Amino acid sequence: MEETTTTTIVMYPAPGIGHIISMVELAKLLILQQQQHFSITILLSTGFFDNPSIDSYINRISTSHPSITFHRFPSVTALIRSNTQSLAATGFKFIKSNNINVESKLRQISQTSVIKCFIIDLFCSSAMEIASTMGIPVYYFFTSGAAVLALYSYFPKIHSETTASFIEMVGVDIVAPGNASLNAVLMPEMVLDREDPAYWEMLYMCEHISLAKGIVVNTFLELETIAVKAIVDGTCFPDLGSNPPPIYCIGPLIADPQQPDEAKDNKDCLSWLDKQPSKTVVYLCFGSRGSFSMAQLKEIAEGLERSGHRFLWVVKRPIQEHLGMNQVHDTTVEFELNSVLPSGFIERTKERGLVVRSWAPQVEVLSRESVGGFVSHCGWNSVLEGVVAGVPMIAWPLYAEQHVNRNVMVEDMKVAVAVEQREGDMFVSGEEVEKRVRELVDSERGREIRETSLKLKDMARDALGKFGSSTKALSNLVQTWNDN
Ligand code: UDP
Repeated sequence: MEETTTTTIVMYPAPGIGHIISMVELAKLLILQQQQHFSITILLSTGFFDNPSIDSYINRISTSHPSITFHRFPSVTALIRSNTQSLAATGFKFIKSNNINVESKLRQISQTSVIKCFIIDLFCSSAMEIASTMGIPVYYFFTSGAAVLALYSYFPKIHSETTASFIEMVGVDIVAPGNASLNAVLMPEMVLDREDPAYWEMLYMCEHISLAKGIVVNTFLELETIAVKAIVDGTCFPDLGSNPPPIYCIGPLIADPQQPDEAKDNKDCLSWLDKQPSKTVVYLCFGSRGSFSMAQLKEIAEGLERSGHRFLWVVKRPIQEHLGMNQVHDTTVEFELNSVLPSGFIERTKERGLVVRSWAPQVEVLSRESVGGFVSHCGWNSVLEGVVAGVPMIAWPLYAEQHVNRNVMVEDMKVAVAVEQREGDMFVSGEEVEKRVRELVDSERGREIRETSLKLKDMARDALGKFGSSTKALSNLVQTWNDN
């Protein structure tokens, strides 16, 4: 009897719920799009940036999408945890230590299935060689935008032109194709310092971008025209000439509203929002890691209070200042809002403001009619969620590649005003918070930004529509697999 062989796509997200959710959303789109049957296996590492509700999330997706299966690697935490290196360096080490698991799983799957391709998060590029050696085509998935991808693609060139660390280049502007110029000290956190092993891992990653069969990016053509052009015409790859890897802009991929909640009881804020007048509430949320010092929380509170506007503010447990942003937000540690905010603030503002602890269901919040502005840390998922909801933003970048995203939001998309941050420690005063909130809600510039946001909202919807650019890109991607 003839043996039937199944066809599989294997996906491998980087650790962290944001990376996993985006990859799962890509898997869902592929399942919808496919013209010939294939199943999808998603490999998940365990032990770094784990989310307490990941199990229920996986169960839900497996039940609603039987073509998607998950395989979880055993935890390797004990191998790598160190207090002396950066979080990013630890993350790269963690990813590398999982390569042995990747290899054995790919070998196991290939015994019973044809692996059409291996789609890996760009940050998992150390796993590329394993699949390439086995003859499996490797595609990258980049969960941030095209501007950052353009910058990373060009990074080996910038590296070759200096021996200094960006962190030392105060006052120097970095110019990369597809990007507005960026002060060197604001370059993505992971490439700031050559003393940090993460710098060299990033260099390796960026040098390998052009080796992929293709790069899938969570953006859409109309959102980042300039950056996409710089990638497509090869300007970002000066050593490759005019032969860059194909790029597939298939976004915006947004987590469905039932993403894993870190605090389910925080859904109460939705009913509060439903009682507020249209477009009056400014929503403040700084991603999964966006914690502040007590001093910074005090300034935000004072700015909000003085602005007189309605607000919904997600406050995380304050950071220990000496550790900076290099600490993982632990939602399991309880804290009292009253003990971290100025005395009486919650009481004084209760008629027009709501503070929630740790986590809010952001996608649902942004879809509420009453939300008229979003103070965001410029994490790419948050940016896309703001764009899809058509909500104008105040850009307050904190870490990772968020200063690049800030430039894109303010200068290219024109959907945000930026807060002015103090040089060095990036502190933002209460006066500045008040000024920017008023600017977004009350001024002529705010009105223009609101109009642009609504236009982009329509463009995002169209990109995913039947004849949209993202639908077409996804179809082209699937076609390349069907042709082979
Ligand atoms: N998020 C949320 N509620 C919160 C904080 C974050 O739902 O209180 C979600 C947000 O909607 C987004 C993700 O967590 O999908 C954060 O990803 P992003 O890329 O914006 O930032 P990161 O956390 O990776 O810095």
